[in-house]
Amino acid sequence: MQITVVGAGVIGLTTALVLEERGPTVRNRAAETGAATTSSVAGAVWFPYKAGPPARVAAWAVHTRRWLDELARTTPEAGVDVLTGYEITRDDSWPWWGSGLPELARAPAPVPGAPMAWKFTAPRAQPSLFLPWLESKLRARIERRTVTDLAGEPGDVVVNCTGMAARELAGDDTMYPLLGQLVIAGCGGADLTTTITDDRDPDSFFYIIPRRDELVLGGCSLPFPPGATPELDRAIKDRILAHAARLQIPIGEVLRERVGLRPYRLEVRLERAGRVIHNYGHGGAGFTLCRGCAEDVAKLVSG
Ligand SMILES: Cc1cc2nc3c(=O)[nH]c(=O)nc-3n(C[C@H](O)[C@H](O)[C@H](O)COP(=O)(O)OP(=O)(O)OC[C@H]3O[C@@H](n4cnc5c(N)ncnc54)[C@H](O)[C@@H]3O)c2cc1C
Repeated sequence: MQITVVGAGVIGLTTALVLEERGPTVRNRAAETGAATTSSVAGAVWFPYKAGPPARVAAWAVHTRRWLDELARTTPEAGVDVLTGYEITRDDSWPWWGSGLPELARAPAPVPGAPMAWKFTAPRAQPSLFLPWLESKLRARIERRTVTDLAGEPGDVVVNCTGMAARELAGDDTMYPLLGQLVIAGCGGADLTTTITDDRDPDSFFYIIPRRDELVLGGCSLPFPPGATPELDRAIKDRILAHAARLQIPIGEVLRERVGLRPYRLEVRLERAGRVIHNYGHGGAGFTLCRGCAEDVAKLVSG
């Protein structure tokens, strides 16, 4: 069995890895790798954000969390650490993503002026370590090339993991970008074991995700015209920093900013169409869903 995986973001790399573990020969082709992918921008914490449908996403997420937990315990070079997560929200009904999280509970929020929060454990991958680690685990080197016709790719099966580019490659105009902007700051005096999301106000969505050596502060999620190139917005940066100050999080100096486009559709497309298996549209949850989705691709290959 020969398989071509197109795409080397977190979805393509994880899919290639899982398929290789099952035995087939896997070729991985990608226009860009590493820092040039959307995956490199992500805060990359486990949290099922902007992805559907809920039941499948919850199952993929739980599956992926188990793998990330295991990597955090056994493989420090993969760049995964387990953090304590808090979601501050006005809604105290049980979160739709909470099935399979035995530790999920209401708890006091760890910042002043906030009510109760949902508390859970949240593995976080550091993309600058995690993506190269995934790549290093693949048997074959990634071939750098732009694919223009999925059906023309070699192999018994072709897996489409091209993120936002699937809009053109698969002719899928239900895909659209959701813009996210981040401020990367020094660690300052922040607690590096805690990630906080504050989604009480839809116009001032905020999160902090500590990496091993810096803090990721966000964010926003704004529909963006397909095909356009995003630019940094000063007002978004100022709002993010003001929110951190309001929550009295002692961040360090601002190091840089990043902007990226979440590859969003109402439902992740994970299905087989002839020789092609599609695995794209993971929105704001590519790291959260990668392993669960890859396992389902493997089932579609063998089934
Ligand atoms: C600001 C921001 C913060 C985020 N935070 C989180 C988070 O905390 N947790 C989380 O789980 N997710 C987060 N995400 C979402 C996550 O980054 C995405 O869901 C994920 O990166 C999608 O991965 P992907 O592999 O599908 O796409 P990509 O990373 O975009 O990779 C696509 C791959 O396909 C290749 N490709 C495209 N077109 C072609 C072609 N024609 N031929 C060959 N190759 C091609 C590209 O070169 C690339 O290798 C965030 C996203 C953003 C923007």
